[in-house]
Amino acid sequence: MLNGNESKSIHKNKSLKNSNILISQDSAGNKSQKTPSQNNLIKQLQEKYKENGYQTIPYIPNDQFAHYCLEQWEDSIRMAAPVPKENMEAVKFEDHSLLIGEVVMLWWMNRMKKKDYIPQYFLWQYGINFSTSLKKLESYGLATSEKSITNAGLNFLNKYPKIIKHHRAGKSWTGIGPVKYDYSKLLKGEEKKEAMLQNVQKAFDNEMKFYSESKIIYFQWMPSKNPCQLCKKLATTDNGWGKGVYRVADKIKVRKLLHYDCLCTTVPYDDTLPNIIF
Ligand SMILES: [Zn+2]
Repeated sequence: MLNGNESKSIHKNKSLKNSNILISQDSAGNKSQKTPSQNNLIKQLQEKYKENGYQTIPYIPNDQFAHYCLEQWEDSIRMAAPVPKENMEAVKFEDHSLLIGEVVMLWWMNRMKKKDYIPQYFLWQYGINFSTSLKKLESYGLATSEKSITNAGLNFLNKYPKIIKHHRAGKSWTGIGPVKYDYSKLLKGEEKKEAMLQNVQKAFDNEMKFYSESKIIYFQWMPSKNPCQLCKKLATTDNGWGKGVYRVADKIKVRKLLHYDCLCTTVPYDDTLPNIIF
C-alpha cells in the first residue's frame, strides 16, 4: 500500500530532570573545539543545547557541523541534528557515568567483526566522539583499545537491553525529541506478519479516508509488479464499473482481502474518463 512503511510507534518522553547527569569530558571541555575561528558557531550550539536543558553537551567536531546543527535545529528528522535530548542521558556504571551512546558502543563492539568503519550515528544520534569514548570505556575496563568488549563490558551491556532495543528500532524525531520508536522491524514470525498486516490496513484506510473526504466514488486496485493470486483477482474482477474498480462505499469487502505482504495500491477512479492504465 502507499504508506506501507508507516507503523505504530511509541512516544517516549523521558524527563531529564531527575536523572543524574554529568558534563562529559569529551564534549564541552574539549580543547580542540576552542580554536578562535571555530569558537563562535560551536559556542553558539553549545549554548543552545544548554538552554534546552542538556546537561551533557553533545560532541561537536567542527564549525561546519555546528553550523549545520544550528540550521537544522527545528526541522531535523533522523540523522539531521540536533542530538535528541534523551540520548544524552547518563547511565550509571559503579561510581562513573556513561552516556547512552557509550552503551551502544559496547553493543556495536560485541556485534561487529569488522570494526574499521565507525558508524556516523555515534556522532549524529548519540553526540559522542568515538575515540574519546573508547578511551573512557577502556579506562573503566569495559573495552580494549582494539575495540573489543571485555567480560565486564558484556555484563554491563546485558543490564541495558532497553537501550539496545531503542537503538535497533526505527527512529524519528524533530528538534530535540522525543524520539519516536518503531519496533516493527525487530519483530519475527507471526508477530511480524501481524504488524505488517496492520500497516497494510492502515495505509488502505488512509487512502479510503482520502477518497471519502474528496468525494471520490470509485477506486481502482493497482497490483504490484508480482501480485499474489488474490491481488491479481482484485485487479481483474469487473463489478460493472471496469476491471479492478470498486466503490469506495464497498471498501470493507476489499479490506477483508488485504494480506500482510501486499505491495499493491489503489488510485482514484473517475468513471467519466477512459480507463487509464498507469
Ligand atoms: Zn497485493
